Amino acid sequence: MQVSIFLESGKEHSVLHQHPWIFASTVARYEGKVGVGTTVSVFNDAKKMIGRAAYSPHSQIRARMWTWDPDESIDHAFFKRKIATALEHRKKWIQNTNAIRLIFGEADGLPGLVVDQYDKLLVCQFLSAGADHWKDVIVEILAQQTECESIYERSDAAVRQREGLESQTGLLYGAQPNTEVLVKENDISYLVDPIHGHKTGFYIDQRDNRLLVQELSQNRRVLNMFCYTGGFSLSALKGGAREVISVDSSGDALNVAKKQTKLNHFDENRAIWLDDDAFETLKNMRIREEFFDLIILDPPKFAPSAAHLAKAIRAYKEINRTAMQMLNKSGLILTFSCSGAMDMETFEKTIFTASKEASSHQKSGDFKFRVLKRLTSGLDHPKLTCFPEGDYLKGLLLERI
Ligand code: SAH
Repeated sequence: MQVSIFLESGKEHSVLHQHPWIFASTVARYEGKVGVGTTVSVFNDAKKMIGRAAYSPHSQIRARMWTWDPDESIDHAFFKRKIATALEHRKKWIQNTNAIRLIFGEADGLPGLVVDQYDKLLVCQFLSAGADHWKDVIVEILAQQTECESIYERSDAAVRQREGLESQTGLLYGAQPNTEVLVKENDISYLVDPIHGHKTGFYIDQRDNRLLVQELSQNRRVLNMFCYTGGFSLSALKGGAREVISVDSSGDALNVAKKQTKLNHFDENRAIWLDDDAFETLKNMRIREEFFDLIILDPPKFAPSAAHLAKAIRAYKEINRTAMQMLNKSGLILTFSCSGAMDMETFEKTIFTASKEASSHQKSGDFKFRVLKRLTSGLDHPKLTCFPEGDYLKGLLLERI
C-alpha cells in the first residue's frame, strides 16, 4: 500500500532544492500506515509528488529523501546503482591508500549510511532509520561490488538514539576482523582497530592534511594535540621533524600510536607521547615557555549541536590562543573543527579573535598571523552544495609572521 506524507504549503522549499532532510515541523499530514525506515512518497500541498523518502518517526528529521524522481522505485536495484556510483567516484579520485570512505551518507545520495574501507575490511554505520531498514540489501550489494572479505557494523554512534535506534555492532559478512587491520596511506603504515577504535577506527577524513603535515615538518619541533593514534605525529616523523610531542587523554590510542612508530621504523627518541588532558598540558607548556615550529590542534567535536555552540567557541578560542603564543616566528598552526554545528565563517571568526587575544596578552605584541590555506576533508568525503551540513571538517593553516 502506498504511504504518503504531505508537506505544509510554503515549507517545501529546501526539499525542492535537493536538501535531503524533511523536518517534522514541515509535515502537514500522513496518509497510510508508515513503518520505521520504510519508504514514503512525498507530496507538496498541491498534491504534486516531489519524490520518495525514508520515514523516521522518532527523529526531528522525520524523513530523508532517497530520490527526487517520482518514477524511481526504492528497491534492490536503486541501492545497486547508488553504491556503484559512489565506488566509481572513489576509484577516480583516491589513490595512495587502502583506507577510504566508500560511502558518505547524504553526499552519496544514501542518507545515514557510512561505509569505510580498511584494506579487505568494510566497516559500516547505519545511522538513520532508512539506512537501517535496508541493511541486509546494502550488505549484500557491498559484498558483491567490492573485493572485501569482511563487513563489520559499528552503528554505535550517538546519533542513532535520535532516530530511536539502539546501538548495534558486530559482524555482518565474512570472517571476524582482527583488532589490528594494517592499512597504508602515503607510504605510512597504520594499525586500525575497527572494533574498539573511534568511529569506524580511523580518521580517514584527515588524509590530505596528514600529507600536508608530512610536507611541512622538515627539521621542525612539532606539537600534536588530541593526537588519537598519532596520524599527524607519524606524518611529521616521516616528514623529518626534529621532535614530535603528542598529547591525548586516551591511553589505548597512545599505545597504538607507539606500536605504529615502531612498525614504521621511525626514531622513537624523536617521538614523545603524553597521556594527559590537552587543556592542562597547553597551559603548563605555556607557563614553562615551551616553543614549537608546527602545532596541530584537532580536538573532538566541541559542538555536537547548535545548543553547544557558545561553549564550544570559548573552548576553540582558548586552545588556539594558547597554542599561538607557543609558536616560534615563521611557525605554523594547523587548526581544525569537526563540529557540524559550526560553519567555516564562525570558525574563522573564532580563530581570528584568538589571534587578536594572543597578541594583546604579549608584552611584545608581535604575535601576528597570516592564513596560508583553508583545509577540509578529502575527496572521498564529497560535499554537496545543497547540503552544507555535510561539510563538517574545517581547518586553517596559519603562519606566524
Ligand atoms: N587528530 C586525530 C583525531 C582526533 S579525535 C587524528 O587525526 O587521528 C579527538 C581526540 O581527542 C581523541 O583521541 C580523544 O581521546 C582526545 N581527547 C578528547 N578530549 C581530550 C582532552 N580533554 N585532552 C586530551 N585529549 C582529548
